[in-house]
Amino acid sequence: MDKAKRAAVIAGNWKMNNTPAQTTALIEEMKPLVADADCDVVLCVPYVDIHAAVEAAKGSNIKIGAENVHFKDKGAFTGEVSAEMLTAVGVEYVITGHSERRQYFGETDETVNLRTLAGLNAGLKVIVCVGETLTQRKQGITKELLAMQTKIALKDVTKEQLQNVIIAYEPVWAIGTGETATAQQANEGNAAIRAAVCEVYGKDAADALTIQYGGSMNAANAAELLSQPDVDGGLIGGASLKAVDFSKIVAAASK
Ligand code: PEP
Repeated sequence: MDKAKRAAVIAGNWKMNNTPAQTTALIEEMKPLVADADCDVVLCVPYVDIHAAVEAAKGSNIKIGAENVHFKDKGAFTGEVSAEMLTAVGVEYVITGHSERRQYFGETDETVNLRTLAGLNAGLKVIVCVGETLTQRKQGITKELLAMQTKIALKDVTKEQLQNVIIAYEPVWAIGTGETATAQQANEGNAAIRAAVCEVYGKDAADALTIQYGGSMNAANAAELLSQPDVDGGLIGGASLKAVDFSKIVAAASK
């Protein structure tokens, strides 16, 4: 399948930014700027902002996501939020395996898999993040690492459920650093992920899968990154906190 037939998805990851009032104001500012998008537009926001985000996005083309999900339905897991809780408040997407969760909060490939399954089983669309550190890139193991992270994250995910999966290739060295992968590096990473998915699910499923690039994508570099044959969208951190910048990335994905 050629890239034009895959869903292009631009998703913001707000990380630990914005109060509910700031959420309302930012989404109100974004709505008219992204209204003509010819791609899916998602904002993944902190848990406390979800209600404000869902309300502000009502009637627009912006979908709301969460930044994480726990893998159990309920119970003694202080500080965690279940997939059912997310769907109950209007969340449609969730991020799993973000490198900041892996780096600072002990997330492993195995827990990323469990969280991914929990999201999918609840009917959420799951944005699964994978990516190499600078050390791993220097060791020349990027492609193997991306294949391994992808296969473990998708363990027990059915071919049908794969239709609700988006993978984000996020080189750890490019996240929040201002250092962007070159368009060629981004495409190579995404192609390696697609090849790994092909091994498990076959060519048709791999060809249909939306694979984003994430890592300091901004209004200036988005068009080149998004023009790559295996780059089907972006996961955007810093630039998703500014309405105009984010809308320019959305416009670049819509061409
Ligand atoms: C991210 O948080 O997923 C991300 C890509 O951040 P940034 O765009 O700020 O590098």
